[in-house]
Amino acid sequence: MTIRVPVVEKIMSANDRIASQNRARLDNARIYSMNLMASPGGGKTSLIELTIKNLAELLRLAVIDGDVATSIDADRAASAGAVAVQINTGGECHLDAVMLQSALRQIELDEIDLLIVENVGNLICPASFKLGTHKNVLISSIPEGDDKPYKYPGMYRGVDALVINKIDLLPYVPFDMDYFRRGVEVLNPGLLTFPLSCSTQEGLDSWISWVLQQTQSNRII
Ligand code: MG
Ligand code: ZN
Repeated sequence: MTIRVPVVEKIMSANDRIASQNRARLDNARIYSMNLMASPGGGKTSLIELTIKNLAELLRLAVIDGDVATSIDADRAASAGAVAVQINTGGECHLDAVMLQSALRQIELDEIDLLIVENVGNLICPASFKLGTHKNVLISSIPEGDDKPYKYPGMYRGVDALVINKIDLLPYVPFDMDYFRRGVEVLNPGLLTFPLSCSTQEGLDSWISWVLQQTQSNRII
């Protein structure tokens, strides 16, 4: 029992070391990168597709998709116009820095401006494994319920932006936006949020502008 804590710490610091190497590779290639996390069905792939479609003429995009099995999501990203790499975790419920490191080897990094990493759908451990990306983004969606910040605090604490997806379903689903936002505010004060709907595309523009602006400012620096 006493052995468990040091082992976990060792794994975490090894992961963090590789995450910093990933960041250095991305920075050297002037790639801006984000790690997109959500529960299964939250809309990660749909948001990625729309982001690609809206930015493909302005930026060179790559998507790395983490899934337990299949290449369905990477195929969708590729058809939308991005360079896409699938990572099958073979049962692992999150991506880690080593998985990203090997996926990065399969991409011509000098030909990419923006990298979106689609993490495995899961609201628990993706928050604990740094990948080395510049921004961590969480998608929450209306049908999941307004209690998610209260039930999965670790996920909300560590992110740089929050997308609230499927707002078109607000009239049909019991979801108290004030209760939800209060929960988020306690965990992550002033968190940047993007309420939107991938189906109706309401609110999508501010997300697209933010991603574009972040990527462009990264290229200037
Ligand atoms: Mg997906
Ligand atoms: Zn996991």
